[in-house]
Amino acid sequence: MSWTDLLEFDRKNIWHPYTSLKRPLPVYPVESAAGVRIKLADGRELIDGMSSWWCAVHGYNHPVLNNAVKSQLDRTAHVMFGGLTHEPAINLARLLTDLVPRGLEKVFFCDSGSVSVEVALKMAIQYWQVLGKPGKTKFLSLEKGYHGDTFGAMSVCDPVTGMHSLFSGFLRKNFFAPSPECGFDEPCRDVHLREIMSILEQHGAEIAAFILEPIVQGAGGMKFYSPEYLGKIRQLCDEHEVLLIADEIATGFGRTGKLFACEHAGVTPDIICLGKALTGGYLSLAATICNEKTAGTICGAFPGVFMHGPTFMGNPLACSVALASTELLISGNWMEKVKSIEDQLTKELAPCGSIAAVRDVRILGAIGVLEMDRNLDVAAAQSLFREMGVWIRPFLNLIYIMPPYIIDSADLSRLTTAMKAVAENISS
Ligand SMILES: *Cc1c(COP(=O)(O)O)cnc(C)c1O
Repeated sequence: MSWTDLLEFDRKNIWHPYTSLKRPLPVYPVESAAGVRIKLADGRELIDGMSSWWCAVHGYNHPVLNNAVKSQLDRTAHVMFGGLTHEPAINLARLLTDLVPRGLEKVFFCDSGSVSVEVALKMAIQYWQVLGKPGKTKFLSLEKGYHGDTFGAMSVCDPVTGMHSLFSGFLRKNFFAPSPECGFDEPCRDVHLREIMSILEQHGAEIAAFILEPIVQGAGGMKFYSPEYLGKIRQLCDEHEVLLIADEIATGFGRTGKLFACEHAGVTPDIICLGKALTGGYLSLAATICNEKTAGTICGAFPGVFMHGPTFMGNPLACSVALASTELLISGNWMEKVKSIEDQLTKELAPCGSIAAVRDVRILGAIGVLEMDRNLDVAAAQSLFREMGVWIRPFLNLIYIMPPYIIDSADLSRLTTAMKAVAENISS
C-alpha cells in the first residue's frame, strides 16, 4: 500500500492521543529512528526534542538496548508472573531498590504509568483498611497535576485540564490544593501551604494519601516548584497520618538533574511510581515501589494480599531492556550530560524572554520550556518545526523540549533555534 492509502486508513480508523477521528491533527509517517534522529517516510530527518514523551533518554535504536531485547527474546518473550519468576524481573527490582530513595524496597511491576498510579492508590487504601481506618479512601493532589488517564489516576489529575466535568458522574471526588506558587529557586513560605494545611486539618480522616509529581508538574503545565515545598509536604503528611505517593513517571531517571526528583528535597515518599524512561523508551513497563511500613501493613491482616495482578506483570522482555537501560544510565556520565544540556538551554533560551508572546522561560535539568501568552495551533507549529528539521510538539500554550541525554550541542542548538523562531513567529 502507498503511504497515501496507509495515512488515509490511519486518519479514518486509528485514534491518536487526545484527537478527533472526524478532524484529526496531521500525523507524520516514521520510517525509522536512530540516535536523536527520527527519519520520516519522505526521507526527511527530524532532530528529536521530545524523547517520545520523556522515554527515550538514550536515543533510538541503541545497540545495547537492542541487544538486551534480542537476547531475552531467544530465551522467552513472556511467562506469567503468577507462580513463576525470572532473572530480568529480579535483577531489575534489585537495581531499582538500590537507586530509589532509601527505604523503598517492595516492587510491584505493571504495564504502564497509569496502572502504576492505580496500584499506588490501591495500596494506600488497603493500608488504611488494615489499620482500621476504612474512612480514609480519598486522595489529596495538586492542581495542574497529571497522573495518567485511567479512572483512578484521572480522579487525581487537575480537574480542569483533566476534564473532570466530562466524567463527573463516574469520577471519584478528591481534594485539590493549588499548584505550588514557589518556583524552583524560591523559598517556600507558610502562605504557600495554607490551603493544604486547612484541607489536611478538616479532612485528614478521609484522606489515604497525598499524590504529587515531585518538583516538576509535567503534562499539567510544565511547572517547577521549590524543593522546600516538597520537604514540608512530607512533614505535613506525617503529622496528619497521610501517606505520600511520589509520581516520578516523568521526572525519574535523571531528567531533572537528580536521578529522582525527590532527591532535590531529600524526601523519601511511602510509595514511588516509575515508568516512561524506565525502559529507555523501548517497551511499556512501570513499577510501583513502596516501603516496608506500607507493604507490611497491607500484608499483615485481611485479606493479607495485595489485590492486583496484571497479565503482563513483570514481562521479561520489558524487564530486560529496563535493566539494560538503567545500567547504561548509571554507568555513564548522565549527570554531566544533563548538566551540560541545562547550561546550554539556559544560555540559548533565556534570551527568548524578550520575545513579545513569551510569558516565561523555564529550565531545569534536561527540560526547556517557553510558556506563551496564548495557546498554539498545534498543527501549524508542528509543521513549522518540521520545516526546520526538528521534532517538537507543543501543547496548549507551551513550547517545550526534553531531548535524549545523548544529544550533542549542535543538535541541541537546532532545537532551541527552532523554539525561538516559532515563538517569534507567533508574536508577529
Ligand atoms: C505519563 C505520565 C503518567 C501516565 O503514564 P502512562 O504510561 O502514559 O500511563 C502518569 N504520571 C505522570 C507524571 C506522567 O508523566
